[in-house]
Amino acid sequence: MNNLSHIPSYLSAEHLGPWETFLVQIDRVEPHLNPELRPLTPILTRPMRALIVNVPIRLDNGEMAHFEGYRVHHNLARGPGKGGIRYHPDVTLSEVMALSAWMTVKNAVVNVPFGGAKGGVRVDPRQLSLAELERLTRRYTSEIHILLGQDKDIPAPDINTNEQTMAWMMDTYSMNEGRTAMGVVTGKPISLGGSLGRKDATGRGVFVATVEAARRIGMNIADAKVAVQGFGNVGEAAARLFSDAGAKVVALQDSSGAIANPAGLDVRAVKAWRQQHGTLVGALGTEVITTDSFWSMDADILIVAAMENQITATNAGLIRARLICEGANGPTTPEADLILQERGITVIPDVLANAGGVTVSYFEWVQDISAFFWTEDEINARLDRIMREAFAAVWEAAKTKGITMRTAAFVLGCERVLLAHKVRGLYP
Ligand code: GLU
Repeated sequence: MNNLSHIPSYLSAEHLGPWETFLVQIDRVEPHLNPELRPLTPILTRPMRALIVNVPIRLDNGEMAHFEGYRVHHNLARGPGKGGIRYHPDVTLSEVMALSAWMTVKNAVVNVPFGGAKGGVRVDPRQLSLAELERLTRRYTSEIHILLGQDKDIPAPDINTNEQTMAWMMDTYSMNEGRTAMGVVTGKPISLGGSLGRKDATGRGVFVATVEAARRIGMNIADAKVAVQGFGNVGEAAARLFSDAGAKVVALQDSSGAIANPAGLDVRAVKAWRQQHGTLVGALGTEVITTDSFWSMDADILIVAAMENQITATNAGLIRARLICEGANGPTTPEADLILQERGITVIPDVLANAGGVTVSYFEWVQDISAFFWTEDEINARLDRIMREAFAAVWEAAKTKGITMRTAAFVLGCERVLLAHKVRGLYP
């Protein structure tokens, strides 16, 4: 019986969504787990708890609107829940469950003392005013308050949420508790106990992991051509760091379109253009390309830093890059994974590649609870070291066992989680 045969009654069996991807990944990993821990695997195929909330808000026009919100604790064996909050019209319970499970594995891969959690609200934030967004965030935070706390569950930003969202969450939680609780969320503004280096941390981790991989496959970053999908917090920082290291960023794609310049584009100028015009299209010195030509771009490295399910069985065959780094969570479908593996393309999996964000979240939480703040150099040096060590461990395991880096990262992460379960024992 494989893990896919376990479908919870609260998800539609026909449209299992991202949770199915996670279950397939666990199926592929199970045979490689330490035989003593393997019998505990079914724990990972169910979330520990999932809270579904209604988020009613007063709109600026006086009417009332209702939004569906979630917070899922996938696993708390290794510590309090940790993971971001996403605002997106496509958020579903299945998606939040999968994202929380990937947080469990990710936190274990970089060995930060957290379990896996994730939250989301099914909303298109572009349709709301700033005041409406604040009311949405405060009501959502109140509804999930019972799960939160610096030693219970610590949210952070994710797609369409940012420092301001975290400041509202921290304030709402603090007001309800009657005290200022810094450590309850991370990714906060610096003025409110946020950490230096947190904003660029995910992109920086992506860059460090890619440099480590490139070195091992004999690729020189300074001569490399890089294509980046997604130009948000992760994609923009990664693109900037690659171009600062001398690489040519030859193509960028986001929801507004795709642009290219085979001679290398100016990442900062494109960012300024996008800020001004709300789109990548039209940025000076770039040409507009189709999505298909983005995937088949002549590039050595492809960074996928947008959403789930971007590399599929349809476009996996088009990709010309030798190295793919997953800045997003779940960007590659299980079918596409097999195609990339057959084609000999190295994939740095999400649970390793984008772990820089939660690593600096961990530093922020440590700084908040100890009320002692570090310098940016200290933070970046510690982040780089954790990313390099985690990369080396995953690379070694992949080589020794003859498995992909994704399976190796999952083996490493899942074994840490299952070992915690084994030594804690089963209650009661
Ligand atoms: N949302 C980010 C992620 O997917 C960061 C989570 C955190 O810092 O808690 O890893």
